[in-house]
Amino acid sequence: MANLVFKYSAMNGGKTINILQTVYSYEAKGFKIVIIKSKKDTKGKNCILARNGMNRKVDILLKENESLLTEKNYKLYYTAKVILVDEVELLSEEQIKELWYIAHLINIPVLCYGLKSNFKGEIFGEGVSALFAIADIVEEIGSSSICPCGKKAIFNARKVNDKFTDVGPTIVIEDGKSANVEYVPLCSECYLKYVKIHSDEAKKLAKLVDKIK
Ligand SMILES: [Zn+2]
Repeated sequence: MANLVFKYSAMNGGKTINILQTVYSYEAKGFKIVIIKSKKDTKGKNCILARNGMNRKVDILLKENESLLTEKNYKLYYTAKVILVDEVELLSEEQIKELWYIAHLINIPVLCYGLKSNFKGEIFGEGVSALFAIADIVEEIGSSSICPCGKKAIFNARKVNDKFTDVGPTIVIEDGKSANVEYVPLCSECYLKYVKIHSDEAKKLAKLVDKIK
């Protein structure tokens, strides 16, 4: 039986390059691949774009409440050897459940790529919670992203007008339209130092640490 797989990394962790490499290696052997991404990802419109300039048109640009279990979508993926999902953190819990049924009732492997946490350092959303609960395999992508200090990045910090922040809506796409928003992958130490340090939570917990040290 096929599996539902969740492959995660912080931003700039090589997810899209990993997808495109998977596409080329399957297609070189003559297999059909189907790529899905959420319409919420406005970057690249109906394509997925890697930072090295490689790109690929997606087969299904999934709307917010669109089901994958429709005849129209089934016709697009039923002959696929594998289904790849980019920016999976933008999918709903319902859509993740549908992917699980596609893997286990239709027997097509589904590889999901995305972030596990948002810029606040919390589980990205209901889709990611569902993946942690029901994915057959959860794994970190090997070529993970690097913090400016050189350590492995865990967090996806948001900068607005060049200042780090942990308040604001969960989804703001860095697509060139919101020119004042950018994301910086950070390690835990740098996330604490640059983002969390002024929060009530950090003040409270740092006080407790000081007390017991
Ligand atoms: Zn760092």
